[in-house]
Amino acid sequence: MARRTAFVPYAPRTVLNKARRADHWFWTRYSAYPYIGCQHGCAFCYCRERKYSPYEDPDDFAHVIKVKQNAPELLRRALSRVPIDTVFTGDYQPAERKFEISKRMLEVCRDLGFPVFVLERSPLVLRDLDLLLEIDRRAPSAVAFSILTTPEAPSYAAVRLTERLAPAPEKRFAAMERFAGAGMLTGTCLMPILPGISDDDATLESVVRWTADHGGRFVLAGSLTLSDQQRDYFVQSLRGPFAHLLETYRRLYPPGSYATTGDFSRRVGLRVRELCQRFGIADRIPRPIIPGDRREANKRLVEWLADRAYALELEGAPSNQVWTYRKAAWALEDLVQDVRRVRSELGLHGLESIPGIGSALGSEVDHMLASLVPSPGVQPPVL
Ligand code: SF4
Repeated sequence: MARRTAFVPYAPRTVLNKARRADHWFWTRYSAYPYIGCQHGCAFCYCRERKYSPYEDPDDFAHVIKVKQNAPELLRRALSRVPIDTVFTGDYQPAERKFEISKRMLEVCRDLGFPVFVLERSPLVLRDLDLLLEIDRRAPSAVAFSILTTPEAPSYAAVRLTERLAPAPEKRFAAMERFAGAGMLTGTCLMPILPGISDDDATLESVVRWTADHGGRFVLAGSLTLSDQQRDYFVQSLRGPFAHLLETYRRLYPPGSYATTGDFSRRVGLRVRELCQRFGIADRIPRPIIPGDRREANKRLVEWLADRAYALELEGAPSNQVWTYRKAAWALEDLVQDVRRVRSELGLHGLESIPGIGSALGSEVDHMLASLVPSPGVQPPVL
């Protein structure tokens, strides 16, 4: 018999997680979530990891949902004290129909002018389409969908076994089309790509094609991670329907490893890149920037440097080379001044004196900067 879901009222002391700077995947600096636990109960969900999950029994994760009733008020208070940047938020599991905490948190972001990034497995997010458009008009935002397969892909039935309580992928694509039609940035987070289950070429191609056909502008690929009790839970779920894959997973994720060994991530990342090029969409999420942002050029350069780091990773470049670009991106994210002003007032030397850029990347960054549109009041750099 199906287990009943218990909703537990919960009043946390804080709700906003703050990072020093935006991440290079979703471009979010803050995160705030309305619930703990998720009724979709995907077998691979990383939220079962000990560091995220308060549950002793990993099965409770999908059946005992903690409802952060004071989250909107906490979020309003916390966002009032921090610089505007993108908030990773929203959670449209069935509980949201009843409690509407996600909606109220989005209203806070709208009131205070914070952009949002929403990542969903449920088309219920369409309920708040108008609200998200309101946020997007003031502060460009994105709504992405976690999708691993399509109804025409050979992996469909197998993937559905791993996320059987989540709404069907075709419903997510239909929702994507509505967001795209309304003019919002949307696309697919193809994560986690499951070795032996959803990493076949026909599935990858189908997901990229369906994304492009439904107005999605990107497909971001990501691999499965396995850790502590989440690892145990996932491996347990493989027994039975995927018992033949146990050895594959043992090899790809030897004890103590968190990510895959070998070049699995690189292989699927490169393939998704090729497919995205073929279907005319991006394999990275474009960074939304608020119009008139004084540090727009800095953020565009950060995006370009992060993309370079990712490309080098896919090419199998030495990690020190990858980290050179990643650290340069951090340096520009941290730079308080408009980088164009630094360039126009101090010349190339000004760029090279930014810690993390130096003479190694100065000319490359300068070249990239010259290709950006200058903002009003700032002279384009003299080359
Ligand atoms: S929908 Fe997302 S958060 Fe919910 S169980 Fe699945 S992977 Fe986890």
